[in-house]
Amino acid sequence: MFIGKPNIMSQTKYIFVTGGVTSSLGKGIISSSLAKLLQARGFKATIQKLDPYINIDPGTLNPYEHGECYVTEDGAETDLDLGHYERFSNVPTSQANNVTTGRIYQAVINKERRGDYLGSTVQVIPHITDEIKRCIKVLGESGKYDFVITEIGGTVGDIESLPYIETVRQMRWELGESCAVIHLTLIPYLAAAGELKTKPTQHSVKALLEQGVQPDIIVCRTDRSLNEGIRRKIALFCNVSPSSVIESIDAESIYDVPVLMMQEGLDVEVLNKTNSLVGPEPELKIWKEFLFKLKNPSDEVNIGLVGKYVELKDAYKSINEAFVHAGTQNSCKVNVVLIHSEEVFEENVSAKMEALHGVLVAPGFGNRGIEGKVIAIRYARENKIPFLGICLGMQCAVIEFGRNVLGYKDAHSTEMVEKTDHPVIDIMEEQKKINNLGGTMRLGAYQCKLDKDSRIFNIYDGEEDIYERHRHRYEFNNDYLEEYKKAGLIPVGINTKNNLVEIIELKDHPWFFGVQFHPEYKSTVAKPHPVFVNFVKAALDNKS
Ligand code: GLN
Repeated sequence: MFIGKPNIMSQTKYIFVTGGVTSSLGKGIISSSLAKLLQARGFKATIQKLDPYINIDPGTLNPYEHGECYVTEDGAETDLDLGHYERFSNVPTSQANNVTTGRIYQAVINKERRGDYLGSTVQVIPHITDEIKRCIKVLGESGKYDFVITEIGGTVGDIESLPYIETVRQMRWELGESCAVIHLTLIPYLAAAGELKTKPTQHSVKALLEQGVQPDIIVCRTDRSLNEGIRRKIALFCNVSPSSVIESIDAESIYDVPVLMMQEGLDVEVLNKTNSLVGPEPELKIWKEFLFKLKNPSDEVNIGLVGKYVELKDAYKSINEAFVHAGTQNSCKVNVVLIHSEEVFEENVSAKMEALHGVLVAPGFGNRGIEGKVIAIRYARENKIPFLGICLGMQCAVIEFGRNVLGYKDAHSTEMVEKTDHPVIDIMEEQKKINNLGGTMRLGAYQCKLDKDSRIFNIYDGEEDIYERHRHRYEFNNDYLEEYKKAGLIPVGINTKNNLVEIIELKDHPWFFGVQFHPEYKSTVAKPHPVFVNFVKAALDNKS
């Protein structure tokens, strides 16, 4: 029997996760759960998402199209699944963990222009598939991981995903037992027949087979338990052993899924298929403690989330999850009350906000919904409700203070009104010269020095230099700094290199912070974000 922690295996194993039947089955959660289980067994695992769309990254996509845009330490604007990977594994991801078709083609076309393929016709096979392969192997060849789990976006059968599936076929052939394919599929229940149906799964496996890929493991999303008969049937029709048919039943919380996958033996199947040492059961003590606390809160608070994308549940994914982590840490359930910023007016603000114990004003771009945000902030400030403004949320807090405390009725951000007499939020000098919109913001982790005499210094547990992730163009306009300070809005965190205000706090308020960065991106199960933890605590104090 294998004892102790394995070192990095000499050969990195590649696990592919494909999806069948419908989209939104939760490939990201299955991949994250598998990574968590492998990690809990002492292996080093990373996850990569291959997205079949032509955008270079999701940074230019509207949240209605694609949900939240997640930002990594190294400043990549990525798919929101990378957020799940980090929240589950507590390991940072990077640009290499998210690749799109646009990026693949851009790389190949650049090489073609450079003359790298001189003399040949550049084609999908082998040039595009080679580039995809390179992007997958880059992670394996870094020597940092035992397992690279690559999630292929979209659904098998989509035209866009063909080159990716072809790459999987080639890599399987080249790597043999160092590679395994998991196919995630749906087993629908037909009420009229009173039965779970396997036919869509059979068809989607057939589609995979037509592209030359035999899945090793079938993970079946279902709303009810699969009996032995169904498992045998799936195994028989899809050429896998019954133990490789894994049930993934609807769970109360996404954080249940690693435990459910362990019970179903997904990790053991993957280890067996890739000829890896199975070893003792994974260590999930801390994870299970988190789950217990999550499900047994001793109190609850209502926190308003004011934003313009509230009708779309994935638009503020990381914020919602950060509240789950922070609530659990406080043994408290956080009811996130979604408030559409376009529907907040002077006349209804108190009706909308009187039952709230805390208010968060969300990040965002553009003018829509700004006035509602400003009105909500005024209410939170005047009624002493704990408040957290994130990015645009902080900028709106600065605008609100400028208008209602300093008396600058036209205080604004030059993002919304180019010419105002009081541009309290303004574009950074270096941003003025940039014309392209994609990937040109202040992105990724930047240093911020905390004021040692401030509360935020204690919230961050006495750390003086913190690193938080950014995604914005506009900044607090330092021309107004002294005036704001005199009136009680204090900069308590500064980027010392560029002298930029990163965190503001109101003096005469129980808990009022604005942060120019996005703390939500760094909150994980293992390390809930201190700002969110303290915010929930402040909301709890406000309730009692
Ligand atoms: N639109 C603002 C800016 O670019 C804020 C961005 C954000 O909230 N992420 O500065």
